[in-house]
Amino acid sequence: MGLWVKPSLDTKLHINFDWWKERGANFRVVLQSRLCDECREKYASLGAVGEIDWIDPDTAEITRVDGLWHSLRTCCSHKPNYITEQTPLAEAAFRILLANDNTPLTPVELQRIIGKRTPEAILTALAGKQVYMGIKPVVPSKSRPKK
Ligand SMILES: [Zn+2]
Repeated sequence: MGLWVKPSLDTKLHINFDWWKERGANFRVVLQSRLCDECREKYASLGAVGEIDWIDPDTAEITRVDGLWHSLRTCCSHKPNYITEQTPLAEAAFRILLANDNTPLTPVELQRIIGKRTPEAILTALAGKQVYMGIKPVVPSKSRPKK
């Protein structure tokens, strides 16, 4: 258990993978369910796609990335039905974090991208004791316990 940080409108939030590990929850199953219809069909079997080499277009650096996540970022997240009017706020925030490679964002920044409701509403949706999809405040590195 880390330090409980009470999130504010300026708190950076991200998907915390320790949360997934602690629960033994399968992130890839969730990732797959957020793919567009075409990709979901293509990757119907999770074993069919592993890690792939991805070349950063800006730096030409090669990194190993999850093929599912890569498809979501480069294809599915650009589809108009990725986030719709009906998408609940917490889910919209989750999908934005997936699309931006889990770069931490504040409720203010998330609201600007979602373009509806208010930063306060997003904070309320994400900052309760009920963690949605592992979205948690980024713990400042100086207070992170040493392994
Ligand atoms: Zn797709």
